[in-house]
Amino acid sequence: MDACYQAFDKDGDGHLNIEEFRLLTRALFRNDRGKIYQLDEQKLRDTFDVFDLNSDGQIDRDEFTFCWNHWIKIIVRPISAFLIVDVQNDFISGTLNISNCSAQQNGLDVIEPINKLLETVKFDAVFYSLDWHPSDHVSFIENIGEREIDPNSPVTAENAQTYDTVIFSGSPPQKQRLWPRHCVQDTWGSELHKDLKVVESAIKVYKGTNPDVDSYSVFWDNKKMTDTTLCAQLRMRNATDIYICGLAYDVCVGATAVDALAIGYRTILLDDCSRGVDLADIEKTKNTVTTNSGVIVNSSQVKAMVEGRDRRPELGYKLAMELKDTLREKLQQHSG
Ligand SMILES: [Zn+2]
Repeated sequence: MDACYQAFDKDGDGHLNIEEFRLLTRALFRNDRGKIYQLDEQKLRDTFDVFDLNSDGQIDRDEFTFCWNHWIKIIVRPISAFLIVDVQNDFISGTLNISNCSAQQNGLDVIEPINKLLETVKFDAVFYSLDWHPSDHVSFIENIGEREIDPNSPVTAENAQTYDTVIFSGSPPQKQRLWPRHCVQDTWGSELHKDLKVVESAIKVYKGTNPDVDSYSVFWDNKKMTDTTLCAQLRMRNATDIYICGLAYDVCVGATAVDALAIGYRTILLDDCSRGVDLADIEKTKNTVTTNSGVIVNSSQVKAMVEGRDRRPELGYKLAMELKDTLREKLQQHSG
């Protein structure tokens, strides 16, 4: 740490000013071939301000210690979790085969690049999620007659077609997209595809187990009533970075990425390891992830990122903003 601090304190005055901090970020945010990633000027200043705890326009020694321990160390040596979402038979060749959806993508395409990552990259933890429904699940169009439809529902039970969104009665009324019966617990359709490599020590996370609530995100059900074990498992491992991919891009993969970002993780979506339902919704998913400081990459870029040799400014900025929130909470607790 001392060597780093002295190296960037070019004028030797015992502080890092914004220009010295800029040089530090240019050394930090590079790819594995030494190419420098530009950190947007405003984001650079916002980041500087996070570590300039007393707002005197300088990062002094103590402030740098905080910056080193909570930011630089994580950027250089992230703790990575690989989350493979719902690569199950029903989505690939079963009842909810996504190739029959409007984007006409093939779920099988994700298996080869995912297997290659599992064979070549040392993630700190690997998770597989499984959509895991009881047979009376609310999302199945076959079960439409089992629950009361809200009078304000745009679609009635009689007219409902697969992929329509209805509103079920309740307090509050509950929007639900209707899917063909899929991923029923302990059936062939809910099994992971046989060609998907399942690594030892991986953790399986089951979602959508409550008959009355659907669950797109691997973190939470759609009403945020109950969480899965994923949060606790990630915390236990001190994970900093989550690589997310699988099926379907614009549904469960997207919802999981949005939750990962909201919880505060540095979030990376793997484009070539994901396939989806609707092209416009896939674009929306990508936009949401990038505007919230997540990144979208191809699997070929993952190894260098996991090893801390390819360091993205978006993820550094995301972490800085999370630290800012944590610090603000701490300060409020102090004054309160
Ligand atoms: Zn489902």
